Amino acid sequence: VQQRPLADRSPDELAAFLEAERAAHERLVAAGLRLDLTRGKPSSEQLDLSNGLLAGLAGPDDVRDRDGVDVRNYGGLEGIAELRELFADLLGVTPAQVAAGGNSSLVMMREVLVDLWLHGGVDSERPWGREERVRFLCPVPGYDRHFTLLDWFDIEMVPVPMTADGPDAAEVARLAGSDPTIKGMWVVPTYANPDGSVVSHEIAEALASMETAAPDFTILWDNAYALHHLTDDEHASADVLGLCAAAGHPNRAIMFASTSKITFAGAGVAFLAGSADTVAWYTRHLGKGAIGPDKLNQLRHVRFFGSADGVRAHMRRHREIIAPKFDAVRRVLDAELGGLGIASWTEPAGGYFISLDVMAGTAARVIALAKEAGVALTPAGSSFPHGDDPDDRNIRLAPTFPSLDDVEAATRVVATCTRLAAAEQLVGG
Ligand code: PMP
Repeated sequence: VQQRPLADRSPDELAAFLEAERAAHERLVAAGLRLDLTRGKPSSEQLDLSNGLLAGLAGPDDVRDRDGVDVRNYGGLEGIAELRELFADLLGVTPAQVAAGGNSSLVMMREVLVDLWLHGGVDSERPWGREERVRFLCPVPGYDRHFTLLDWFDIEMVPVPMTADGPDAAEVARLAGSDPTIKGMWVVPTYANPDGSVVSHEIAEALASMETAAPDFTILWDNAYALHHLTDDEHASADVLGLCAAAGHPNRAIMFASTSKITFAGAGVAFLAGSADTVAWYTRHLGKGAIGPDKLNQLRHVRFFGSADGVRAHMRRHREIIAPKFDAVRRVLDAELGGLGIASWTEPAGGYFISLDVMAGTAARVIALAKEAGVALTPAGSSFPHGDDPDDRNIRLAPTFPSLDDVEAATRVVATCTRLAAAEQLVGG
């Protein structure tokens, strides 16, 4: 049964609602919970799916890649051929367009920005660091670490709205088309962090083909959740590199991905993909500070998966573990907040997050109330540049790490705090 919208209730009814929610919150505080819905980490059960990696390679005879290279030694900056081939298939690019590196794609993103800053990209007229001003379009809500990374460079962040099909392409084209200080943008194309949206072919095409005032406008296409489906509706990522090449901007997009949420978040493999020129540009700069990646770990990953289909099957086992946690969040939010007219939330078909919009002006209060009740939530505004959510409304929920019971209990707390904060605001108390 849906509850009646708070907006339709009389002052007396609202006062009673507020009292009831205060009491419910006090009971939760007294229960002394200690739960955490903050970071999108795989659970131990998910990590266990990849324990086959711990056995490592078959033994001392299994230390050569298919080209006969001893993976224990230096060399091979772009990563071993068979792993690049395997992930090229999964990412919808050619092996020559992929470099396989260390364990973190976020580190690769930082490297790319450092290279752009010091030397400029393939299409740059000068290093970005010599520009008077560098600005970047940031679809919001978005990934907090993308924003703190830009902030570290003093790159000015210009928020643009997200839609159900990815960034608002018309707004992006308007800004990037007229302002040469706008050098690029973030895109999390598949099951975005945090709103779960998937960039449609049309939006990808618009971003790939738009005219930009900066000749070296760069799309950092962070496909961290390309393979992380939660339903049978397995969304394919738009072919951004193909679209960019077809539109005459072959170097515009640089793609990133990793096995952080496929095998081990701390010991996986990260990938960069782009035009052949972009990959050569990246490895040329990489070579100034590296002689080669951990090829042994790359070979272990090849042996563990066997094929691209091996990865796809592995992702279904992840789904079996985490889909029930996403379902639990949805069930509790539906039951406890449905109909009240004070909150809305995403129902992602993949990825690691649910984005909850509470009543404007109450997100920070909800998070503080949840903390009192022992539930840690990502700080208010995390999904916005400089932590500034202008409406104080967005809360990112990350249900993968805690147990199913804990996810359910934590979501109940979130729901109670959402109701209490809304009632406080409506009653003005
Ligand atoms: N990009 C996005 C959108 C993410 O959500 C995350 C992890 N939270 C990362 C990148 C981090 O990737 P990696 O572990 O490969 O550094």
